[in-house]
Amino acid sequence: MKQQNTWVEIDRSALIHNLKMFRRLVGPDVRLMPVVKANAYGHGMREIAGIAAKSKLADWLGVNSLEEGLALRKQGLRLPLLVLGYVPLLRLKEAAQAGLRLTVYNPETVRTLARLKPTRPVALHIKLETGTNRQGVGLEVAVALARFIKRCRHLVLEGYSTHFANIEDTLDRTYPQYQMSRYQAMLEKLEGQGLGAPVTHIACTAAAIVFPQTHRRLVRLGIGIYGLWPSRETMLSSRALHPWLELRPVLSWKTRVAQIKEVPAGSFVGYGCTYRTTRRSKLAVLPIGYYDGYDRKLSNTAHVLIRGRRAPIRGRVCMNLCVADVSDISGVKIEDEVVLLGRQGKEHISAEQMAAWIGTINYEVVSRINPLLPRLVV
Ligand SMILES: *Cc1c(COP(=O)(O)O)cnc(C)c1O
Repeated sequence: MKQQNTWVEIDRSALIHNLKMFRRLVGPDVRLMPVVKANAYGHGMREIAGIAAKSKLADWLGVNSLEEGLALRKQGLRLPLLVLGYVPLLRLKEAAQAGLRLTVYNPETVRTLARLKPTRPVALHIKLETGTNRQGVGLEVAVALARFIKRCRHLVLEGYSTHFANIEDTLDRTYPQYQMSRYQAMLEKLEGQGLGAPVTHIACTAAAIVFPQTHRRLVRLGIGIYGLWPSRETMLSSRALHPWLELRPVLSWKTRVAQIKEVPAGSFVGYGCTYRTTRRSKLAVLPIGYYDGYDRKLSNTAHVLIRGRRAPIRGRVCMNLCVADVSDISGVKIEDEVVLLGRQGKEHISAEQMAAWIGTINYEVVSRINPLLPRLVV
């Protein structure tokens, strides 16, 4: 990326490695559905979906929105695409025309779809409420929805899903066990009434790793395919359960040095004068800021990598700029590559490290990298 200030690099071989790890984990008969919502967790939806489809390691792709599904179709992808989020009633027609599969949990959505009389039947997945209390319906509504779908020749009841509330947060499996037993009980009642569906799925990355009983017919894999662990607890459980399962981070985030300056001891750096040098210092100005997704909470906290060494961020992160202290790094010059996330030489800044700096999780760190920054597949 010679012509860019700031960019994201995607490691194709790491992504393929991770997909193969999950294929080995779930075996040959479970469909693998990489979840590429939120611009593929900030990695670049177009790039990630393209690699996943071409490698033939993905059976389906999961998206959040209609727009994401349409973008993938426009890209020429023919894989089954399941929309996990909400589609406004007025736009269901577009979803049907693009052949998107939909997650449903409102009678209004299902009735609107039926009234559209789509030429190709629309495949629907009913989301069951098992205790997360987000999207999802209880047994009574599920039965009504399933009956309605089964009677409508424009609709197909393809699946039942649910989502765990705390599978990544804890080593205590009580609540996931409870959710799984509720799911199983609801499914048996539905099947008992002739309302079964072929594709049952409940596993996200953490469930797929720590709880093999959750694999069922399809696994919905987000964070793991990007080479990141859903949590420390999941990583530790995995080490014990399947020591061979190794994940490789797919994303690096880079910028370059825009200016170098020497300042005397006692100089302030940046807005608010929140940092003051304690010695004569050499500073590198970096063309990256919170607009790019480099969180303002990284002010006076983060490190970046320059010439294989750690350089602390001094002063506040601005909208488009920040400043690193390179006093102890010799030979730094303008346009030197700077690593914000990823590896350089023997040093490494992980998404977990950045998450700890700003008080969040690795999911948020990567998914909030500005989608306008170029994604470069390497
Ligand atoms: C985002 C999402 C996933 C993926 O979760 P990970 O923890 O990233 O694997 C799975 N299922 C649903 C419904 C989701 O919204």
